[in-house]
Amino acid sequence: MVYRASTQDYGAETFDESAFVQRVSAFLDNHCPRLDSVDQLIPESRTPPSEAMSLDAARSYQASLDDAGLAGLTYPTEYGGAGLTQRHQELFTQTAAGWRLPDGPLSISHGMCLPMLNEYGTHEQKSAYLPDNIRGTTIWCQMFSEPGAGSDIAGLSTRAVRDGDQWILDGQKVWTSGAHYCDLGLVVARTDPSLPKHQGLSMFIVDLQVSGIDIRPLLQISGTRGFNEVFFNGARIPASSLLGDVNQGWNLAVSMLMFERVSIGAGAGGLNTKRHPELIRLAHQLGRHTDPTVRQALAELVISEEIKDYVGQRIRSAIASGRVPGPEGSIAKLTGSLLARRVRDASMAILGPAGQAWGLADNAHSEARDWARFCVSAAGASIAGGTDEVQRNIIGERVLGLPKEPDPFKGAAWRDVPRS
Ligand SMILES: Cc1cc2nc3c(=O)[nH]c(=O)nc-3n(C[C@H](O)[C@H](O)[C@H](O)COP(=O)(O)OP(=O)(O)OC[C@H]3O[C@@H](n4cnc5c(N)ncnc54)[C@H](O)[C@@H]3O)c2cc1C
Repeated sequence: MVYRASTQDYGAETFDESAFVQRVSAFLDNHCPRLDSVDQLIPESRTPPSEAMSLDAARSYQASLDDAGLAGLTYPTEYGGAGLTQRHQELFTQTAAGWRLPDGPLSISHGMCLPMLNEYGTHEQKSAYLPDNIRGTTIWCQMFSEPGAGSDIAGLSTRAVRDGDQWILDGQKVWTSGAHYCDLGLVVARTDPSLPKHQGLSMFIVDLQVSGIDIRPLLQISGTRGFNEVFFNGARIPASSLLGDVNQGWNLAVSMLMFERVSIGAGAGGLNTKRHPELIRLAHQLGRHTDPTVRQALAELVISEEIKDYVGQRIRSAIASGRVPGPEGSIAKLTGSLLARRVRDASMAILGPAGQAWGLADNAHSEARDWARFCVSAAGASIAGGTDEVQRNIIGERVLGLPKEPDPFKGAAWRDVPRS
């Protein structure tokens, strides 16, 4: 990527873009492995890092980023951010695509909860929560999905009832990524069941240490425990925990889902990390680079990653010019989940039988094990943040102008709608 050496004027701020990119590159060189350096991608020890190690790495990277004045780039300095422009963020994201960042455990905290707190929080809430969130001192999770409400999130059943200067929460969430290591979460709960389903919801800031909250990690097919069931049994939170207005939770939820799709589809790291350098290195290492099917899979992967990059750039440019991204978020999210499958297929084509002959404790085949874990986790990318089908519905309705799905209970009170 070639950067202009000129200064750019973004509103009141003028800055030298190439100097900023150099500053970011210097920081990343000191703290993360480069993706284009084959040697750095061959880990010295193939023992996978424990969750505690990954969390420590994420927190320490984020604290260093904060010390360097590069954390929370677009957030106000008053609340612990760097007070820079969206253009700075765009440049950071583009530049960071060349390194492997260790900030995965912070992705929901920063990609979704932070922008929500900044957008809808009161001055008191922002002062209390933003600085620690930006620095990674506290980590946040998103608590939307329930056993009976995933794609149809507006149908959720967790109740919040006002009692004096407190709210009482009762109900169950599920698939809550990271709840077992998070400090706080944003919870959507039903505050008025007599209203239609989209209208009786509110969003709350919940300290996960309060009594009446039971967090149970779920074991996944990959052998990891990334997400949880969370039970609320009369958990009491202060009235000041309400984010936004009572019964306006649906608008906030839609906003947060948009941040989620943009974060998954166009942020730094995760589905936006280019995997082809590692796979090309692996193909050479295993002598598979001359196989025409492997070469074809790698060529398709490089092209798909390039396309994904352009979709992400389109979103980042929209944000940089002050526009709220619309269905582009769904296009980016869908592109990302399709890409995850390409990575999965290319890695399995290279590894051959070794991609299946692995054990959780098998260090001899540890690289095969890591890719096999990726293989079984890839399907999750098509579900998290709204399924591929749901993204296609949004694109169909909002981009192609197709008719909306019929809803026989439109306008009915939530409590009168039949549920399983
Ligand atoms: C890795 C991962 C991490 C996650 N992390 C979180 C988290 O941190 N917080 C959180 O709240 N949730 C999280 N989730 C949950 C996720 O948001 C839901 O799983 C997702 O929204 C789908 O809901 P569901 O599982 O209830 O499936 P359902 O909604 O029951 O869908 C079942 C199937 O029906 C299809 N379907 C449903 N409705 C329609 C429709 N209208 N048109 C066409 N097809 C339809 C779906 O595409 C799917 O194939 C996570 C999920 C995964 C996989």
